[in-house]
Amino acid sequence: TSNIQNLLRNDNFKFFNHDIVKVFDYKEKIDEIYNLACPASPPSYQRDPIQTLKTCTIGTFNILELALKNRSKVLQASTSEIYGDPLTHPQNENYWGNVNPIGIRSCYDEGKRCSETLFMDYNRKFKLETKIVRIFNTYGKNMDKNDGRVISNFINQAIKNNELTIYGDGSQTRSFLFIDDLIDGLLLSMRNNYFSPINLGNPNEINMNDLADLILRLTKSSSEKVFLPLPFDDPTRRKPDISLA
Ligand code: UDP
Repeated sequence: TSNIQNLLRNDNFKFFNHDIVKVFDYKEKIDEIYNLACPASPPSYQRDPIQTLKTCTIGTFNILELALKNRSKVLQASTSEIYGDPLTHPQNENYWGNVNPIGIRSCYDEGKRCSETLFMDYNRKFKLETKIVRIFNTYGKNMDKNDGRVISNFINQAIKNNELTIYGDGSQTRSFLFIDDLIDGLLLSMRNNYFSPINLGNPNEINMNDLADLILRLTKSSSEKVFLPLPFDDPTRRKPDISLA
């Protein structure tokens, strides 16, 4: 709870530590639900893949049932990972993706694809006010320094003058969104009447070699770069088309 200390001091804020895989029996009226549950960092979601799948499937189902009971608006945090290793570039919302269904990333990719399916079916069947946002790589304040994703890894390595760990040859690309901009996107998405998925991301694409150099320059670090094996199924490139947003 260290990230929410300032909120805990507010009388209008209540914190329940609850696993969404179990039914949450909440008695007061709910207007809006943001389902942000599920680790998003590959080392975290791969640590317990079955739990990741349960969160994205059973957990999402429980959230939708809670929303249905309250007729609340409900938003699902989906991911650019549903595009897998994309064969079209940049990725727009009409692309169905290129996803390995049985690999080590599948618990997250396929789990989130299933949560999108559940959302659309609750929308069609019950006219529930659902929203789906496909979030591209996000970074920023309050990130866990052991998160394992690239920006926090590189910054921590650079300021400790440790080697920057580039996986593969560093030619793979990502497009990084700052957390405050994502939050604006989440709030705006909740307010509109659009039910189909919306990409939320920053279309400025960068490869991991250039990202490492940028962080070395900004931190004035003298760290070296090392090249380590590329994780299996690591997408080669990713850049959102955000015209819809
Ligand atoms: N990556 C890297 N060094 C690290 C961590 C990640 O080169 O210390 C690479 C990783 O292989 C991927 C990219 O950076 O190509 C983004 O990885 P991250 O885990 O941040 O997010 P995701 O793979 O989910 O997009």
